[in-house]
Amino acid sequence: MIQFDLVRIFTEWNLKSFEGILPIPELRWNSRLKTSAGRFIPNRKKSVIEIASYLLDEPNAEELIRDTLGHEIIHYWLWEMKQPYGHTPTFHEKMNELGVSRYNSVPKHRPFKYCYVCKHCDQKILVRKRLQGAACAACCNLHADGKYHQNFILEVASHLEIPEAG
Ligand SMILES: [Zn+2]
Ligand SMILES: [Zn+2]
Repeated sequence: MIQFDLVRIFTEWNLKSFEGILPIPELRWNSRLKTSAGRFIPNRKKSVIEIASYLLDEPNAEELIRDTLGHEIIHYWLWEMKQPYGHTPTFHEKMNELGVSRYNSVPKHRPFKYCYVCKHCDQKILVRKRLQGAACAACCNLHADGKYHQNFILEVASHLEIPEAG
């Protein structure tokens, strides 16, 4: 397996698109991150950007890692600028400038195995691995200020094997 140096990729983005102003955050791989390719965890002392380890198994790993890290750096940059750091209009502008995706890409070639449902909003979520205590992101955003809330824990709707498309 090729190793990708997150610090190097961060530094490239920082110099190319942020005038090198961003202090280096904690950059780490997360092998448990399955529902998105990356995440940004704000912290006044040192923010954290996590990249899902499963990206390393993809044939276009480097591209996916660059794209995901670019996306998360925009969240981080907004936070550092003391601006709202969600997917705001400024976020989208910067995203276009960097040429990264709106959504964190989850590889599509592995079949989904489980269907979970949020009992609160009835949204169904297809996943490849079992979720443990994961909550509905939409409901947490809407009703719990974006924080994890156990009222919105996802429950298994059914086990299913969806054939791969194409
Ligand atoms: Zn995002
Ligand atoms: Zn929900």
